[in-house]
Amino acid sequence: MLDSKPGRRATAAVLLLATLGVARATAAAPAADAILRVDPPSWWTGFASPDLQLMVHGPRVAELNPAVDYPGVRLASVTRLANPDYLFLNLRLDRDARPGHVALVFRHDGKVILRRDYVLEARRAGSRERKGFDAGDAIYLIVPDRFANGDARNDRPPGTADRLDRRDPGARHGGDIAGVTGHLDYIERMGFTQIWLTPVLENAQPAFSYHGYSITDHYRVDPRLGTREELRELARAARARGIGLIGDVVVNHIGSQHWWMRDLPSPDWISGEGSQALTNHKHSTILDPYAAEVDRRLFVDGWFSREMPDLHPMSAELGTYLIQNALWWIEYAELSGLRVDTYSYSDKRFMAAYTERIMSEYPRLNIVGEEWRNDPAVVAYWQAGKSNADGYVSYLPSLMDFPLQSTLTESLKKAEQPYAGLVDLYERLAEDFLYANPRNLVVFADNHDTDRVYAALGRDDALFRMAIAVVATTRGIPQVLYGTEVLLANEHPGNDGEKRADFPGGWAGDAVDAFSGRGLAPPAAAAQEFVRTLFNWRKHSRAAQFGSLRHYAPVGGAYVYFRQLDRETVLVALNKAAAPVRLDLGRFRESLARGAVGQDVLSGARVQLLDELLLPPRSTTVIDIN
Ligand code: CA
Repeated sequence: MLDSKPGRRATAAVLLLATLGVARATAAAPAADAILRVDPPSWWTGFASPDLQLMVHGPRVAELNPAVDYPGVRLASVTRLANPDYLFLNLRLDRDARPGHVALVFRHDGKVILRRDYVLEARRAGSRERKGFDAGDAIYLIVPDRFANGDARNDRPPGTADRLDRRDPGARHGGDIAGVTGHLDYIERMGFTQIWLTPVLENAQPAFSYHGYSITDHYRVDPRLGTREELRELARAARARGIGLIGDVVVNHIGSQHWWMRDLPSPDWISGEGSQALTNHKHSTILDPYAAEVDRRLFVDGWFSREMPDLHPMSAELGTYLIQNALWWIEYAELSGLRVDTYSYSDKRFMAAYTERIMSEYPRLNIVGEEWRNDPAVVAYWQAGKSNADGYVSYLPSLMDFPLQSTLTESLKKAEQPYAGLVDLYERLAEDFLYANPRNLVVFADNHDTDRVYAALGRDDALFRMAIAVVATTRGIPQVLYGTEVLLANEHPGNDGEKRADFPGGWAGDAVDAFSGRGLAPPAAAAQEFVRTLFNWRKHSRAAQFGSLRHYAPVGGAYVYFRQLDRETVLVALNKAAAPVRLDLGRFRESLARGAVGQDVLSGARVQLLDELLLPPRSTTVIDIN
C-alpha cells in the first residue's frame, strides 16, 4: 500500500532523530527513505521521443539534488513545483540507450542520501507497429465488476472502503479481470475480436467505485479487479485468440480520494482552485462562434462531480504525466487501443497534444473518444482530418457514434410515417458527409451509460434484431455491451446500476448461466444465437467490414442497404411493417445484378435474387452475395 501521509512520515523521522539526541541542523537532509514512489514505475528504450519525465514523490525530495549514472541516459534538467514533496527529473534517452537498471542518485549538501534503480525495459518486437482496432473488428464492452467473478479471493481486499453487496446495484459485485480471462472462450465464440474494459485502475472511493471512472492511482489496478500482471495476462491470452484489448482512460478528472489530493504537486493541477464549481455540460461552447468565454471555461474547468475533481492538464508536468501514463499502459498491457472518457471536457489543446503523441509512438493504433452528443456536427469536430472553421486540428482517430445510436433506437421505436421512422436513420447516415472518416466511428446500440437497447425498444424482439443487425452491418466499428446479447434490460430508465447488471452465470450459484446457455429463457437464447451468427459471419465478410455503403430511401416501412467490396455484396433489409413487403429488386440495380445468388446469413438458405424479394413482417434480412 502506498503511504498516503508523506508529511506525517517526515515528522516521524524528525522526531526519531530528536529522540536519539541527534542535533538537528537547520538544513537537515530529508530522510534516507524519502522517496515513496517514482512515476512512471519503469520505462522502455526505443520510443520515438527521447524525453522521459520522472515524477519523484516523497517528503521534501525537492531539497535533494538528483543525478543519473547510466550510458545513454542524461539528466537534462530538473523541475521543482510549489510543493517540496515533488521533484521532476527530465531525462533524455539516446537512441543507443540499452535496457537495464538506471542508477538515480540523490544528494544533499554533496552527500549521497539515497539511490534508486530505475528499470528500462526492451519493447516487445513490433510494439510500435501494432495494429489498433478497426472496422474489421467487433468490440465487446465489459464492466469488469459486473461480468464474472473469476477470483473470490479479491472480493474484499483489506483497506477498501466500498462494500461488496450484489443486491445493491451501486455497490461492488466482485467481478474481476480473472472473470474476463476465464471466459475468453465465450467472447471468441460470440464472434467478438476486441474487448473494451471500463477502467480497471484503482478507485479507492467510499462509494460507487465499481464503475472505475474515479481513478485514485494511475499506475495501480484496483485490487478488487486483480493486478496489473493479470491485466497483461488477459491481453496476452486474448491476443492468442485474435482478440485485442482496449484500455479505457480518463483524462478529464480523477477520484476525490486520489493520492494527489492529499499532497497536490501544484495548486494548478486541479481546476477551479478549490471552488469545485461543477461543469455546465455545455459541449457546444467549444464550437459555438457566439459562446461566452465564461461558459466555455465552466464547461472545461468545472468539476464532473464533487467526487471527481477536474484536472488541468495544461499544467506542463501534469500533461506529461498523463501522456506517459497512457503510453505506459499501452506498452505494458499490450493494448490494441484506447477509449478516452469525457473527451471534450478536457482542454482541447491538450487533447490534441495527447493524441498526437500517442499516435506518433503507435502510428497504427486507434483511439476512440467519447463525445456524448447526438449531433454529428458536434461529434465530427473532434475527428482527425476534419477541417474546422475555427482552425482546430484534432489527432483523435475515432469517436463513439452517439448520433447514430440515439437515432437508431428512436427510428425503430417510432411508427412509420413519410417523415418519421426509418427515414430518420436514413437521413442520419446522410450526415456522414460531416465526418472526416465515418468508417472509423464506433457504432453501438447501447453502452454502459445508456439504457439497454432491449429496454429502450420496449422489449420488442423484432426491433432488437433490427438494431443489432444495423450495428453489425452499417459502416464503422461495431460494439456490443456485455449481456445485451441475452436481452439484459434495465427496469427503470436511466438507472445506472440496472444497466450494469451482473452477467448471468458470472457468479457461482447463478440460476441462469448465459455462458453455457443453461436456464436461459427461449427469447434470450434466440437473441444470443442471432448475435453469435451475425458476428461470426461478419468476422469473415470483408464487405460488411470495409465495403462501401449505398442505401435506398425507406418505402412502406422497409429500409434496404448494401455493402460492397470488390466482388462481394451484402444486402441488408429491415421491414418494420406488420405485413410482408414484396421488394421490387429492379430498384436496386445500382447495387445488385439481376439473378445474383447469395446466402441468407441468418437462416443459411440459398437465395436467388431475381425480380422480387419477400420480406416477412417485422423482419431482418441479411444476404451475403459473392
Ligand atoms: Ca472477485
